[in-house]
Order: sequence, then C-alpha cells, then structure tokens
Amino acid sequence: MTTTLEAPAAEPQKTTRSLSELNLTPQNSDRMAMGLLVIQPSPFCNINCDYCYLPNRTDTRRMDHAVLERVMDKVWDSGLVVAPFSLLWHAGEPLAVPIKWYEKAFEIIARYPEASKYVIHSVQTNGTLVNDKWCEFLNKHEVEVGLSIDGPRHIHDHHRKTRKGEGTFDKAMRGMECLKKNNVPFGVVSVISDVSVDHPDEMYDFYREHGITGIGFNIEEVEGANESSSLNENGGIERIQAFLKQFYLRNKADGFPLNVREFQIAERNIMEPGWCSDPNGKYYNMESDPFGMINVDCFGNFSSFSPELLGQPTEKYGSFNFGNLLSGGLFDATLNESFQKVLSDIEAGNKKCAETCAFYDYCGGSAPSNKYYENGTFDSAETHQCRSTVQIPMQIVLEDLEEDLGINDEVSPLIELPKPEHAA
Ligand code: SF4
Repeated sequence: MTTTLEAPAAEPQKTTRSLSELNLTPQNSDRMAMGLLVIQPSPFCNINCDYCYLPNRTDTRRMDHAVLERVMDKVWDSGLVVAPFSLLWHAGEPLAVPIKWYEKAFEIIARYPEASKYVIHSVQTNGTLVNDKWCEFLNKHEVEVGLSIDGPRHIHDHHRKTRKGEGTFDKAMRGMECLKKNNVPFGVVSVISDVSVDHPDEMYDFYREHGITGIGFNIEEVEGANESSSLNENGGIERIQAFLKQFYLRNKADGFPLNVREFQIAERNIMEPGWCSDPNGKYYNMESDPFGMINVDCFGNFSSFSPELLGQPTEKYGSFNFGNLLSGGLFDATLNESFQKVLSDIEAGNKKCAETCAFYDYCGGSAPSNKYYENGTFDSAETHQCRSTVQIPMQIVLEDLEEDLGINDEVSPLIELPKPEHAA
C-alpha cells in the first residue's frame, strides 16, 4: 500500500547498540508479539478534566488516512503481528473525531492480511458524545468500549469538567444509558482521587444501582501534565488500602457481582500461576517490553512502553518519540539513543524490582511511566501506583483466601506489604 505523503526530515540518530545486540527481533523466542497498538487519531478532547496528563488536548488536528495507511504498513511489515492484539483508539476524546473518519479508517485496516483475525478494536471514551449512531458503529465492528465515569455526580463532576468548568456527569450518564439501550457491552474506568477514596460504599452502591458490572480503578497518578496527585500525601496509601478493602468486602458479601480489574488480576496471579508468563517463565509485562506496546500520534510519531509517554516532554531522555513511521520502520527505534537509554533504564529498574520486591513474580515491574514520573527515572522500583494497583489488591485477595482456608499468620505469614520509601 502506497501513499503520496512527504516524510518529515528524520533527526540524525547516533548509533550506539545494534539491533542484533539488543536482541529485539520478534522471532526471538523470549520476546512476545505486539499486544497493544494505541492510535491517537487526534490529540483533541472535548472536555477538560483537571487531572488529565495530555498536554495538547486543545489541538483539533486529525490524522490523515494516508498516515494511518503508512502506520499500518509499517506495523504489518514489522512481523510483530503474530497474535490477536488490541487496537486502542485513544486521544484526547476519540469520539470527537467523526464516525465518517472511522468508517474509512476501519475499511483501510480491514484490507491487511487476516486483519479480522488479529485486530480487536477498542476505544476509551468519556461518553459525552455517545449517541445511537455511534452505538450502531461500535456494535457493527464489535468495538470494546471503556467508559470513563468517576462515580456519583458530586464525585464525577469534581474533576471531570467542560472547558467552561461545568460538570460532565449528565452527559456521560446519558452516553452510558445510550450504550445500554443499544446493547453495546462496556466497562467503566474510574479515577480514584481524594474526593472518592473515602467513599467506597457510595461508589459500590453507585455501580450496583446503575447496572455497571465491569470496573477498573485508576488511582490518580502523577503523570505528564498532571504534576501532582491528591493521593500522594495525607495518608494516601492507607486511604487507598481502606477503600479497596471495603469495596472488596462489599462485593464479596453480595457474591461478587462486580468484576473489578485489579482484584481479577490479583486472583488470577494467585490461582493460575504462569497465566501471564513469557516463554522463559518470567511474568510478562507488556509495558516494559520494547514493541509490546506501540503508540502512534496523528502525525505518525511513535513511542513504545507505557502509552502515557507519547508526546510528553523529557529532558532526561531527550525524547519519548522514537521515530516517525512516515520516514522509517518500527525497528529503526532501536538505533535511537533515547530508546536505548529508556530501555536500559527500564531493564535496570526491573532488576531492582526483582531484587527487592516480593511481588515481582506477579507484576514484572509494573508501569515504567509511573516510575519515571514518581521517581524521576525508569531505573527505580516501587511507586505509589504499583502499591495501589498491584501490592494492595494482591494482599487483600491473599488475606481473604487465607481466611477462607482457615490459615492464620502463625502457620503461613502473608507477604508483608512493604512501606514506601517516600512515605511520610
Ligand atoms: S509491585 Fe512495584 S516494586 Fe514490586 S515488582 Fe511491581 S513495580 Fe516493582
């Protein structure tokens, strides 16, 4: 597939390690295939949440379809497409780009060999633009939908506002009801911040009352343009722990009607050892694996590792954009000095995790972006984020299993939840 696009001038890159030295070909048995392709059709978002990490969300520019074609050419040519992967349309607000654009985009993608076998479309939306037409499109293409709703009105509207400062709860809930009416399956992602963390019962009741059954908790993070988290101080970790514990107990008392992502992963880690192992038997962390995740902006610039890094400024690493797919291939990134520095620090950070953390075999080093934004470098171990999303859920599920099995601490001590180095 060819296009008439002019490639932007590539920045000269200093070669310090070769591709073979980095041992990164997809044929390498200790590497897995690409698991997630994130495409930003536009950086624009129609609302303005105050904890958002995206720096360019007022920019309305949109990906040209010729750029998308070039991106898909490079992805398919890379040999990384060997198993089904999630193609996540993420912006900004992805539904702020018209349906017509996606109709053509999906048509382009469907032309690639065995695309219907490999591509699982998904979208993360604020829900405010969902209507019957969108539902028809989402159903037709079996798009997996993640809806961002933070909880009841006073919690949701505290952070999730329009540019005029008005709450978006009514619009988001209208979108959710539209998805339900049209039988579009969806899950909800809620950011837990200082306004919700002390209200686990209210949050639980909210999901139950509205028939929401799939939930993921994103604990408010220090990331990109969001330079502080309301939960990094004032006993944040203890409050998160209390929130998750009470939420778990309420769910348990009702027979687990809610599927909570963090607890499901923890349960799987405990009950199905090896479910997420790489061919060498190590816990596979797609976010730490070069090309496990590929993240592309509307101009064809790409990054890898945590999707949150794409387009973010960094002095320490030079740039998180490792190349442009209009002028080069994915593996050209391995010649890029920034990529090499990021990779080597991520690997050093994971080594620290392996040496110091009892959870490493159930985590694989968690999210590099959180290490960078919280600790200032990828070459580090524990973060607030990993304690909230890995350590605490694992501990809660383990404690519950021990209690059900009648195991007490004297017989089998639990993994002790370590104290954070930076805790007050
Ligand atoms: S839980 Fe945190 S410290 Fe432990 S392995 Fe994962 S990222 Fe590293």
